[in-house]
Amino acid sequence: MAQGLPVGPPVTIAASQALLLYNEAASPLLPLLYYLYRAIRNGRKIKCMTEKYYYTAPYSRDFEAEIVAFDPAAQAVALDRSAFFAGGGGQPCDLGWLTIEGEEYIVQEVYATEGQIWHKLDRAIPAAFTGRGATARLDWERRYAHMRHHTALHVLNGVAYNNFGAMVTGAQVYADRARIDFTMDDLAPERMELLERESNEAITRALRLIPREVTQAEAAEMPELVRTAKAMLPQSARIRVVEIEGLDRQFCGGTHLANTSEVGRLKIAGTRSKGKMNKRIEIVLE
Ligand SMILES: [Zn+2]
Repeated sequence: MAQGLPVGPPVTIAASQALLLYNEAASPLLPLLYYLYRAIRNGRKIKCMTEKYYYTAPYSRDFEAEIVAFDPAAQAVALDRSAFFAGGGGQPCDLGWLTIEGEEYIVQEVYATEGQIWHKLDRAIPAAFTGRGATARLDWERRYAHMRHHTALHVLNGVAYNNFGAMVTGAQVYADRARIDFTMDDLAPERMELLERESNEAITRALRLIPREVTQAEAAEMPELVRTAKAMLPQSARIRVVEIEGLDRQFCGGTHLANTSEVGRLKIAGTRSKGKMNKRIEIVLE
């Protein structure tokens, strides 16, 4: 034995103890190891989440970003930040254009996977473009139309909830119309008139839309946040809540107007019974 080393009783660790020690050391790393395994298996480059620029700047029509990954199979690029909404909750994804190294590419589809927002292009880019800058431009007419119709559904939803306790069973936004399904048993004309009248009163009052994030504990104190029948709050640590001042408050990940006055005039264009307690209302904006 080399001189100078401390001498003590031999240390022996049973195999089961060694395994236990190994597991205790490795357990905090398991989610990360699993993520790395899935990313490598899927052939993806491992990057951080895309900053959702459409939350901090919902009226941004163009922006600068950095390309952080390219998926050749999908012909899609991921950016470090994006104002392109990836679609969800009945609101379609945004479309637009990316200019990279002086060449303009059409963004044909936008989708999100594991926190990254991917922009499917009309043609491939060289792999060497990863790390370079891109100038992005949204199809703003389409996006703004979605914001108006989506916000109009929030207003109608708030009025229906406050008057009848109606919960949402489905919704779809288009650029020229929208529809929403409620847990209601009655489509009487007087009821539709009330919904349309009170919605337009709220729109005319130019109410502000106030987005913010709340914790799970704060959300637990606000049961009205869950407005979709049979739905639960997201499990994320912070939950995005959209409030229309004095009218409505619910969790939502979509894009919204800053003020209800931008909706215009809401008109109920049609109704349809989809079951005893499931009624569809179709709206257009004038
Ligand atoms: Zn919303």
